Amino acid sequence: CGIVGYIGKRDVAPLLLEGLQRLEYRGYDSAGIVVTSPKAAGLKMVKAKGRVRDLEARVPKRFAGTTGIAHTRWATHGAPSDVNAHPHLDPENKVAVVHNGIVDNAAELRVRLEAEGVVFASETDTEVITHLIARSQADTLEEKVREALARIEGTYGIAVMHADFNDRIVVARNGSPVVLGIGEKEMFVASDVAALVAHTRQVVTLDDGEMATLKADDFRTYTTTGASTQATPETVEWEA
Ligand code: GLU
Repeated sequence: CGIVGYIGKRDVAPLLLEGLQRLEYRGYDSAGIVVTSPKAAGLKMVKAKGRVRDLEARVPKRFAGTTGIAHTRWATHGAPSDVNAHPHLDPENKVAVVHNGIVDNAAELRVRLEAEGVVFASETDTEVITHLIARSQADTLEEKVREALARIEGTYGIAVMHADFNDRIVVARNGSPVVLGIGEKEMFVASDVAALVAHTRQVVTLDDGEMATLKADDFRTYTTTGASTQATPETVEWEA
């Protein structure tokens, strides 16, 4: 339902929780957040059925990070629950995915992955994306995500983090909005500009079939087949 992400220098959890609150008007049944930092070993995640303030109540005092992604879920596959809330991590806690939309061939992919020995933690369609990325042999995160997306049918706005590539967030869009917010040595991403405008008015709206890599001081956009695309930030008008 709603996605917010950030990479920069600021303490990310309060920033993302505030962003999620700005998306509350869309309705949702659960929420979650995952964070890391350049020096951190691995990803830290919290998720909860219920309101963003229920999630906030569960976030530990020490939850430092400068890169993170967060989600409010409107369940399509699997009941609203703590476990089915996004982000979805692989068993090694390396890959984290938040997803808006529906993976139409999730049941089929799940059967195949389970036959390969994958143990699923949730009932969601989204979790297949996590495992496909985690199991990709590709060298770069962008290529891993591209390989995963080539196997799924359906709609998505996704944001992906990887513990071994923690200088970046990779995002992709097909039928579900993804907007980049361009800051000063910091980058934002959201499914709705409402979650960005408190921080920047410079935005890039991804097209269907487009992906982006966000780093703290740089971003680039390209297609799901790997060709670079032009991304000129536009200034959004917004009544505060
Ligand atoms: N299909 C996914 C799920 O049920 C994402 C739903 C959403 O867009 O929030 O978990």
